[in-house]
Amino acid sequence: MTAPTLSAARSSAELIRAEEPVLAHNYHPLPVVVARAEGTWVEDVEGRRYLDMLAGYSALNFGHRHPALIEAAHHQLDQLTLTSRAFHNDRLAGFAEALAELTGQEMVLPMNTGAEAVESGVKVARKWAYEVKGVPADRATIVVAAGNFHGRTTTIVSFSTDESARAGFGPFTPGFRIVPYNDLGALEAAVDETTAAVLIEPIQGEAGVIIPDDGYLRGVRALTDRAGCLFIADEIQSGLGRTGTTLAVEHESVVPDVLLLGKALGGGIVPVSAVVARREVLGVLGPGEHGSTFGGNPLAAAVGSAVVDLLRTGEFQRRAAELGVVLRDSLKALVGRGVVGFRSRGLWAGVDVDPAIGTGREISERLMREGVLVKDTHGSTIRLAPPLTITEEELRGALGSVEKVLSGIG
Ligand SMILES: *Cc1c(COP(=O)(O)O)cnc(C)c1O
Repeated sequence: MTAPTLSAARSSAELIRAEEPVLAHNYHPLPVVVARAEGTWVEDVEGRRYLDMLAGYSALNFGHRHPALIEAAHHQLDQLTLTSRAFHNDRLAGFAEALAELTGQEMVLPMNTGAEAVESGVKVARKWAYEVKGVPADRATIVVAAGNFHGRTTTIVSFSTDESARAGFGPFTPGFRIVPYNDLGALEAAVDETTAAVLIEPIQGEAGVIIPDDGYLRGVRALTDRAGCLFIADEIQSGLGRTGTTLAVEHESVVPDVLLLGKALGGGIVPVSAVVARREVLGVLGPGEHGSTFGGNPLAAAVGSAVVDLLRTGEFQRRAAELGVVLRDSLKALVGRGVVGFRSRGLWAGVDVDPAIGTGREISERLMREGVLVKDTHGSTIRLAPPLTITEEELRGALGSVEKVLSGIG
């Protein structure tokens, strides 16, 4: 196979310039143009190698092109790629069974992107409220947390507290109440007989890896049980091994009513997301009431099944937990030496850099020049979320680069 000569002939700088007039400016990427990748490493157009410490915002938990996932995808490409749900396909039942078993739930609603899983969860919760709980028509409310990130659709940005995600996109969808994160009192005050669900991230990723106090998730579970509403956990970024357990809610031994999964579920190959819940909840959907042309397609189901197979071994959760200790200890040693504070769980950290050293963006650019790719979240916070396949040596190398950049040598 020959690579398309046009793109092969263009340098990174030329490709970045070529994007400017033709691509919507909804992202502000680091100036690196990736052309190839394997495992924890990516390579740019000029052949420079970088350690990927972002892992596609956790969509690449198993690294780039994990052999088992690529094999599953290749095999499926040679059999069947799409039927639409107008017909059954031979891969979907197995995927749904495996995912339900992995998560300890009963039913699966397959979708594609994370935002679609959130939208679907909102619809299911509302329908459940009317049909099971008995909330009067069109009165259902969903309580969410300030600082949330659940995606980019018009309904989802309706309950965002990030002005840049909302400004210019109204009118917004009603029916959401926003309370401070990690505040059970405020949550209790916001929940009433109209409440269909409480929707939260067990750890707020985009907000800067904000970890709630111990007991918060148990408190949300107890409160939603008392109020007779659903607890929806958005585990799209926190789930599937990232924090050292299959799900982040396991750290508090909590079982939500509804789980939203995405990102790593597609193995970094195709978008795969899902709403996973008990039969009593997802059973409210009848034929024709919700759908997606691509949701549950055989290629997605084959890759998703292979992802579940990897997680069933427990190896990746174990690696995240063990290397998470290395990550935490290394970051601890940097506090007061360029780091003003950090939060971490498993292989996931939000690192607040001394603003005097640079913005998160500037630190990310300096790290890029050191061969380490990370991304800033807000202000002077950078997020570290390497593939769970990273070796201890690679992790220590990346943290060495962070130390170098923060000490001003880089
Ligand atoms: C990324 C993310 C989403 C949205 O997923 P997309 O696939 O980008 O639509 C939703 N919730 C959380 C917690 C996320 O991190």
